[in-house]
This record gives sequence, C-alpha cells and structure tokens, in this order.
Amino acid sequence: MTERKGKNLILLGAPGSGKGTQAAKLTGLLGIPSVSTGDIFRENIARGTALGKEAKAYMDRGELVPDAIVIAIALERIDEADCREGFLLDGFPRTTEQADALERHLTAAGRAIDRVFLMDVPTEELVRRISGRRVCKDCGASYHVTNIPPAREGFCDLCGGALRKRGDDEEETVRNRIEVYNANTAPLVAYYDEKKLLSRINGMTTGPDVVFEEIRKALRA
Ligand code: ADP
Ligand code: ZN
Repeated sequence: MTERKGKNLILLGAPGSGKGTQAAKLTGLLGIPSVSTGDIFRENIARGTALGKEAKAYMDRGELVPDAIVIAIALERIDEADCREGFLLDGFPRTTEQADALERHLTAAGRAIDRVFLMDVPTEELVRRISGRRVCKDCGASYHVTNIPPAREGFCDLCGGALRKRGDDEEETVRNRIEVYNANTAPLVAYYDEKKLLSRINGMTTGPDVVFEEIRKALRA
C-alpha cells in the first residue's frame, strides 16, 4: 500500500490542536513509534530525574525547554532500533534550530523527513479544548470532558487509570504556550512548506476520526 512508503513523519500544530490524539491513531495504523518530547519530559518528571527537574521549571511556565536539551533527547530517541522503519515526531521540532539540527542528523544517517502534517485549529478553539483535556495518569491516553469523554467519568477506557488535568493545562499557562507557539514554532510552517513536505490538515472538523481521514488522504497523496 502506498501508505507504506516513507514513514519518517512530523506532526506540527499548536498546543491543543489534537496532535496527541492523531499521533496515537497514526502510529497504530503504520506500526511506527510516536516520539513525543513532552511525554519524555513528563516521564522524567514522574521519575524525578535531573532532566525532569530541569524541564519542569520551563514547562510549568509554558516556556520551551532550551534547544540544546531537547535536541539531544529527541535525536537520541530516533536513533533507537524501533525507529529504524520510521517514526512520528509529536512536539518536536518546535524551533528552527531544532528543525535544522534534525535535518543535519537525518541527512548524516542517509535518512530524511518524508512528510509534515500541520494541524490547523483557530486559537479560541485551542483554549477551549485544552481546558477540558484530561489525561490518564497510568497510560497517558488523552480525553476531553465533552468532545472525547471516557465511558466512565474520571477513568481511562483503556486501562482504568484515573484521569487528571495536566499541570500545564491551566488557562494562564495555556495562553502563554500558544504565544510561544506563534513566536517560535509557527515559522516552521513556511520552513517545511518550502521543502514541499507540508500537508495542511483541517483540525476543526466534526471529530478526531474525520481529521484522521484527512491525514490518511495526505499520506497517500
Ligand atoms: P503541547 O503540545 O500540548 O504544548 P507537549 O506535551 O508537546 O504539549 O509539551 C509540553 C511542554 O513540554 C511544552 O510547553 C514545553 O515546555 C516542553 N517541550 C516539549 N517539546 C518541546 C520542544 N521540542 N522544545 C522545547 N520544549 C518542549
Ligand atoms: Zn489509561
């Protein structure tokens, strides 16, 4: 199937644009791992590592973790064996410096990014979505109080774990994260468009399944 050609993929989009939800669907379809720098940091915070402590200070303020730290973590992760047949980057790169570092690293290994999906969602909708977001404390699955409610309120459909609000999902922090996205990450849209890698995905359709259909179409194109 043509969906199997190049599988080094990037999901680009503001906080709350639905990257995590689509990442889970895509990795299921393609059998590739999703690499989320945000998840890596949250795991490190949960385990109390030095990296976690350093990242937490930035994350709590809705700021970006410094490039040097993120780049080292992300590149090391995509060099692991399970990423050899492809990977889906969710939340990386987030700055032009990160994108340049990624490109240099892949080129040196004879690899390349095959496609970048931009999740297109207006700002007001982002704030609404994030304030209703709940994540499973055990498996990380993502829900929304009204858009994607779990079968049993407060508990994960997949593993039964308790659902909770992410520490950086409070409205003040959310607004700051969106500003940081517009200032630092939005320039990557033009960056990947110029490389003819960008597919714009309408993230404002009736639901996650419809969004996913658009991504599948873009994959086949
Ligand atoms: P969201 O996309 O909803 O903001 P993430 O889980 O991707 O959530 O990121 C949460 C936080 O982790 C960010 O606000 C930032 O502090 C940090 N972070 C994650 N990825 C990166 C990155 N590539 N560069 C810098 N900081 C990052
Ligand atoms: Zn769960």
